[in-house]
Amino acid sequence: MWRCSSCGYIHEGDDAPDKCPKCGAPGEKFEKLPDDAVELINRSRYTNSLHMTLAGLLADMMDIAEEGIEDNLDPACVKIFTKAKNCSEMLLGSVNAELAGHMKKGKWG
Ligand SMILES: [Zn+2]
Repeated sequence: MWRCSSCGYIHEGDDAPDKCPKCGAPGEKFEKLPDDAVELINRSRYTNSLHMTLAGLLADMMDIAEEGIEDNLDPACVKIFTKAKNCSEMLLGSVNAELAGHMKKGKWG
């Protein structure tokens, strides 16, 4: 695994690419990642994809909750939709904070 030192793009292969497909930096800008960094990235990819899928679902949940609040059929419905909105906001914020932490710790790639 190779990482572009200019933009962080990860390339998988025996050799660095001729140039970075994301930012166009020359191949010399790629650094070969040590085994522990490769293992951390591979281990993190699955969990990060779960977090990102969850974030998408939570964004949908917030939209649905807001529609339900706006629909305003009766107080019991609004109460449920308000709870759903609050829960989804809290969970989405938590997911985003966790992903930000992963990126800082190299659990990303
Ligand atoms: Zn790059």
